Amino acid sequence: MCDVITFGKGGDVTQDAHQIDPPSPGGDKGHKSPPPGRRLTPARQRVLDVLRAAPQGHALGAYDILERLAGQGPGRPAPMSVYRALDFLMTEGLVHRLASLNAFVACPHPDTGPHAPQFLICRSCRAVIEQDGAPVTHLLSAAARASDFLPDGRAVVEVDGLCAHCRARESDREQ
Ligand SMILES: [Zn+2]
Ligand SMILES: [Zn+2]
Repeated sequence: MCDVITFGKGGDVTQDAHQIDPPSPGGDKGHKSPPPGRRLTPARQRVLDVLRAAPQGHALGAYDILERLAGQGPGRPAPMSVYRALDFLMTEGLVHRLASLNAFVACPHPDTGPHAPQFLICRSCRAVIEQDGAPVTHLLSAAARASDFLPDGRAVVEVDGLCAHCRARESDREQ
């Protein structure tokens, strides 16, 4: 069942949002520098690394991210710096926000450029599967136009359900 459709602010799919170098674990030394303000700084890279380390594309809330960063030391990052890093990573299409979970997930294919994702979210294990949401987004935009309605951004569809792994586990239990 599809239960959440959100309209992301400023989410123009056509906007040029992929001008940074692909992230590398060793930081961005040696790459040619993107424009100031668009760089994947070490602080932004750390937030991205935490999300990429989450198992099976699981989404993490801002507090979970903060806790994991604090566990890496030294010192505890300020919550604002984590939110700012997340804002940057979302603008660049490297991270997506899941409205229904109030959580964030690393994009599994960050090199495709700006895209319109949709998400399948397992209600049991919270695994998140990202899919191409362009066809659905297209339909929703057309429907909105037909009603003479101007959405604030592009629609993001989040679908709740059970992943294959959890369905198999449930049917094992029933036998
Ligand atoms: Zn994505
Ligand atoms: Zn599951």
